[in-house]
Amino acid sequence: MGNQRRFSLKFVIFFPLALFSMVMLLTAKNYYDAVNRYIDLEYARVDRALGRGIKVLTALDYSFTNYSNASHPILQEHNHTIQNELCYIWPIDVLLLENVYEGGLPAVDLDYMIVGDAALCTAGSPINKLAKDKVGYAPSLSFLHDVESHVLGIHYIDKRGYVISSPDSYAKNYTKELFSTLKARPFWQKTAQDVVHVTLSGPSPTLDSMEGQIVSLGVPIYENGEHQGVLSIDFDLGALLQGSDNLAGRLNIISNVQSVPDNALRVRGIENPRLSANHSIYYEYNFWSEVKNFIIFEKYSVAVALFIYLLSTVTLFYVNTHKERLYFQDLAAKDPMTGLLNRRGMQTVWRNKITKKNIALAVFDIDDFKKINDTHGHDVGDDAIRLVAKCIKENIRHSDVASRFGGEEFVVAIYDEDTQSMKRILERVSQSIVSSSTKVIEQGFTVSGGVAFKSSSQLEHFDELFKIADQKLYQAKTTGKNKICF
Ligand code: GH3
Ligand code: MG
Ligand code: MG
Repeated sequence: MGNQRRFSLKFVIFFPLALFSMVMLLTAKNYYDAVNRYIDLEYARVDRALGRGIKVLTALDYSFTNYSNASHPILQEHNHTIQNELCYIWPIDVLLLENVYEGGLPAVDLDYMIVGDAALCTAGSPINKLAKDKVGYAPSLSFLHDVESHVLGIHYIDKRGYVISSPDSYAKNYTKELFSTLKARPFWQKTAQDVVHVTLSGPSPTLDSMEGQIVSLGVPIYENGEHQGVLSIDFDLGALLQGSDNLAGRLNIISNVQSVPDNALRVRGIENPRLSANHSIYYEYNFWSEVKNFIIFEKYSVAVALFIYLLSTVTLFYVNTHKERLYFQDLAAKDPMTGLLNRRGMQTVWRNKITKKNIALAVFDIDDFKKINDTHGHDVGDDAIRLVAKCIKENIRHSDVASRFGGEEFVVAIYDEDTQSMKRILERVSQSIVSSSTKVIEQGFTVSGGVAFKSSSQLEHFDELFKIADQKLYQAKTTGKNKICF
């Protein structure tokens, strides 16, 4: 076995790395798919929230346009005050709660306010009459404004100078300037232009605080074919888009006149048959947050990948070390020229081989080998040695052991129950050598052998048995060679 068979350092380093990368790639793909699924869910959630807002507005729009109850003196059940040239009107809960229609459900807490020009507070003034017509819908605004946590407020803004707003706190942000600039605002104009659709506008800063942004859904309100106001729902953008805990990045809504940032993924237009929206929704990612989230999300797969990496590295290193050890062990136990065991290898096998069979320990020695060397050269001598090794290997069984003890001397251990068959094997070896020796030198060569028999290897030290076989070999050499003495 060659030492070259061990894995190269490059392989030991790169193979585990390739395995690791493969598992990580699969895991990353899995993570990517999961992120996309979560984004899909979030988009669907936002779509549903906007859809519900649209439905609410459409229903309110229908009511605002089609119903009014002039006979009910509803504004009398309200308080009013004038501050900063604006009139504020708000419901007196107790009075409204008493006014339960037969079979109707009792009203819940009412939370709205009407704000407008000071004249609003004067009973019978034109603006007061207008507000009276609409105030019957204010409780509906109040009930709907806190149905969902991301709804900041619902308002009816009348261009003639008043606002019905729920919650009431929201109305306090209206000022005289706001009324005077209302019609010039893009939100107002955009909404007024589209009669058949709900208009999405924003994101823009919230009216009442420095932080946070809102998006609004608005519908224009027409009376006798004339545009009078806008009914709108304001969404807290942060709450509306509040991402899933499974996502590292966040969702964003952007008007299509703005440009999408570089780190935007899955940019998709916001669509609803009843919506006029020039807006897109997208997922904004941050590379390192995604990596962090990936590790948290896929921690078990990452751990498995690392484990595979470590295990394969350690295994390859171990195999290499093991192979190296075997190689050097082999080198110490084997004769490089013939591939047979050397003396040391033979003795090791002898010590470790447990058998109940009989043993024949044979020593073979090429006859007149010096002459071959002298006549044909050392290389031909080597060929003769190799030939003997080959003949021995081919004529013994796998369980038998052959070795070269140095020079042209070979030691063979045959294991069998039957002494006669062991003798036959050894004779066959000798004959095979003689008959094929002409391949090495024309006139061929012969071998002599000495054999010692024993019933169990454990009972006899190798050296003692070898000594006997060697004596038999001497006997063969001194009595004419080309024979085996048993
Ligand atoms: P005998 O019939 O009595 O065995 O005579 P011999 O000439 O074979 O005598 P001996 O066994 O003493 O000869 C051993 C020779 O083998 C001596 C040495 O030069 C030669 N020899 C030892 N190792 C090698 C080897 O690896 N290659 C070759 N070509 N010759 C070797
Ligand atoms: Mg010899
Ligand atoms: Mg010799």
